[in-house]
Amino acid sequence: MKDILTAPWLTELVRTCTNMYAHGWDERNGGNISLRLDEAEAAQYVDPSAVLRRIPTGFRAEPLDGMLFLVTGTGKYLKNVQVDPAANLGLLRLTDGGETAELLWGYTDGGRFTSELPAHMMSHAVRLAADPAHRVILHCHPNNLLAMTYVHDLDERAFTRTLWQMETECVMVFPEGVNVLPWMLCGTNEIGEATAEKMKTARLVVWAQHGIYGAGRDLDETFGLIETAEKAAEVYLKIAHLPWKQTITVDDLHQLERRFGVKAREGWLD
Ligand SMILES: [Zn+2]
Repeated sequence: MKDILTAPWLTELVRTCTNMYAHGWDERNGGNISLRLDEAEAAQYVDPSAVLRRIPTGFRAEPLDGMLFLVTGTGKYLKNVQVDPAANLGLLRLTDGGETAELLWGYTDGGRFTSELPAHMMSHAVRLAADPAHRVILHCHPNNLLAMTYVHDLDERAFTRTLWQMETECVMVFPEGVNVLPWMLCGTNEIGEATAEKMKTARLVVWAQHGIYGAGRDLDETFGLIETAEKAAEVYLKIAHLPWKQTITVDDLHQLERRFGVKAREGWLD
């Protein structure tokens, strides 16, 4: 058995946690990540039959039954993951239709998975149905996107169009746009279900006055998705109160679609 602390998927997740904290997106215990693993890749580092603890999840997620996830712990600070991965992360297998998490490694101080596990797992189920290569759900509190939810219309089309106009890359990086949930109580199955519903049509879901959820095939792609939207929100906040002399027009966005072979969300550029 190889040393799990050398597993590429673990070291990359640790690096992502450090990077998110460095960006200021994860104050205190804010933010959480879950990464889906193939049993074969995990089995090089842990014995999949050696269950350390069985932890009830409080929700069902049948499509994920038997799947493995590396998940940040509840109450843990992302800045500390690099110092002690085994206490701050856990490797889980969902069983009993998603109602039980079997701990295979981690949470060494007796801890458990993030309180946002429902939103993560329900989102994984939806994104996997849309894309079999999907692996990552990442949640954080990026400053500018968060600030933007106080001053911008929360209509998804309007919110997305503003972001698309703030940086040329945006429509290529998230052509399907950004979906938005109004403020809701976090940590509940209800916000999990609402987030997953929004994940059916976009990989980015803003939680108003809270933060954002991103989904993707790997950690870099998912981090980059949020990073791009956050950059656009930063530009918006720098210029929103100034008189605009010019912007990226709808016609410009159509040119980008044609040149780069992307298709913006149906009806959102009309
Ligand atoms: Zn949060």
